[in-house]
Amino acid sequence: MKYDYLIVGAGLYGAVFAHEAKKKGKKCLVIDKRDHIAGNIYCEEIEGINVHKYGAHIFHTSNKKIWEYINQFAEFNNYINSPIAVYKDELYNLPF
Ligand SMILES: Cc1cc2nc3c(=O)[nH]c(=O)nc-3n(C[C@H](O)[C@H](O)[C@H](O)COP(=O)(O)OP(=O)(O)OC[C@H]3O[C@@H](n4cnc5c(N)ncnc54)[C@H](O)[C@@H]3O)c2cc1C
Repeated sequence: MKYDYLIVGAGLYGAVFAHEAKKKGKKCLVIDKRDHIAGNIYCEEIEGINVHKYGAHIFHTSNKKIWEYINQFAEFNNYINSPIAVYKDELYNLPF
């Protein structure tokens, strides 16, 4: 089989590139050395909970175009990141 592009890495970059290239009629082969897609944003379901395998990820952008683009793929909830820290038995909001 002949491809227009060989895309190494099935993370966000590779996935978006392949999606856009396919829309333009290009044939893409996406490969990855890991046994799953999604690169560093990959989640694994453990006992019904989606666990970020490579560290927590939150989608954030102030760019309307990007927000509209990404919403074609999934429905987002309105999670607000408000981390806290415990220091000497006191709770602090982060960032300080
Ligand atoms: C702990 C952590 C937290 C983060 N938190 C956030 C966040 O909250 N918000 C945010 O916007 N961003 C966050 N990021 C950054 C975000 O993960 C990256 O910007 C994004 O995932 C990059 O996508 P990518 O496709 O470029 O690379 P990656 O997701 O790294 O995907 C690259 C893929 O290529 C594969 N690959 C590499 N070399 C080869 C090879 N030679 N052969 C085959 N396959 C190969 C890898 O296995 C991988 O799957 C975080 C990153 C980390 C590590």
